Amino acid sequence: MDDSFAEARERESGGNGAEERTPGDMILRCVECGCAFPWAVGEQEFYRARGLSTPRRCSYCRKVKRERYALVGADGGQTRW
Ligand SMILES: [Zn+2]
Repeated sequence: MDDSFAEARERESGGNGAEERTPGDMILRCVECGCAFPWAVGEQEFYRARGLSTPRRCSYCRKVKRERYALVGADGGQTRW
């Protein structure tokens, strides 16, 4: 089931990572600052492929949060969204 799904997806994308011309970006709302931010199709696939859930923060807040973690040193330098 998973295999056939992945195969179909690869055939669709042409196997060249052409995310730019693919429509379907989602607009999400950031839980941190409340702004609306686009979630690109390419990112959606990236998240799904890794079993990650929908991002809840915009890229700016994620960056701020990451920098805060880096300052505190609580996370061993690992990037986790
Ligand atoms: Zn934000």
